Amino acid sequence: MSLPDPPTTVQTDPESLPRNGSAVLEVRGLSKRYGDQVVLGGIDFEVLQGQIFGLLGPNGSGKTTTLNCALGLLHPTSGSVRILGQPSQHIYETRGRVAVVFDKPVLLPSHTISQNLKYGAHLRDQTGGCSASEVLKLVGLAGLEKRKAGQLSLGQMRRLSIALALAGNPELLVLDEPLAGLDPIGVREIMTLLARLRDEGLTLLVSSHRLFEMERLLTHAGVLIQGKLAAVGSLEELLGAAGRIRAEVDAPERALELAQQNSWEVLAQRGQELTLDSGTPAEEVNKALVQAGIGVKRLTPARSSLPDLFEQLVDAQEQEQ
Ligand code: ADP
Repeated sequence: MSLPDPPTTVQTDPESLPRNGSAVLEVRGLSKRYGDQVVLGGIDFEVLQGQIFGLLGPNGSGKTTTLNCALGLLHPTSGSVRILGQPSQHIYETRGRVAVVFDKPVLLPSHTISQNLKYGAHLRDQTGGCSASEVLKLVGLAGLEKRKAGQLSLGQMRRLSIALALAGNPELLVLDEPLAGLDPIGVREIMTLLARLRDEGLTLLVSSHRLFEMERLLTHAGVLIQGKLAAVGSLEELLGAAGRIRAEVDAPERALELAQQNSWEVLAQRGQELTLDSGTPAEEVNKALVQAGIGVKRLTPARSSLPDLFEQLVDAQEQEQ
């Protein structure tokens, strides 16, 4: 087969495993301007090993610009990025430890799935990594080896792109809008695959505007609105699951007094149902209520949702302007 020029994916052979919990990506004061237009207004975040970090936000909020700066494909106006300990402009030093899947599949359309994988291995000068059959099984394309890439559905093309990325055995997989343009079945297949990679411990950095789906996948997120990171943290921190509970009790007035005594924040009361931010585990709140002689009918974590959080952040930003 005749080989065209390499596409702009970044992937080669692995060198060493990162330390548990070490920073895979560190973004500090990153800003990007085009003339007078501020596309990124100085953002800070980090992705630690094992996290599934989502860069979330509407179209035009700066997600792709952030990824491109992180991958050394775009020069920031100011700020710095370190990826696997290297400044992003030296990303080539991370040879093979970072793989990228762009929203538009970078494939050889008139070549088969097998040939695409062989070409990927050739580009990486690969001697190690996963076998073609292993990665095709992982992405659910086993049995389709002889199918031409150009004849695949968009969902299958994206899964093949992920297979190509995984074949190099990366430590960090970056995916730009992995759900863009997919029908519901394609979305489901990619979500299942990403959840499997998460469960296997791979570190993922994903950009997406699909908040509902991302909520089921991510461990951490940064929400970009108009080039500013409006919120960043673990999903528990962002959605308030830690310490936030909904309790249905038989004596709400006494429960309110107890909340005051314990400095629990009362977020809402509807009849016998109180929503509290206690800052303590739910079992401690339950114990305190029961010890005070208050009957607890139901006690559940009161988690917000990414779409709700997003709306609050947009409202807050509109009020600021
Ligand atoms: P997202 O990935 O969140 O959709 P992008 O990072 O692609 O957002 O774009 C953020 C903003 O930067 C958009 O307003 C876009 O028009 C602008 N932008 C991106 N690239 C350029 C460029 N080369 N020149 C001028 N503006 C650009």
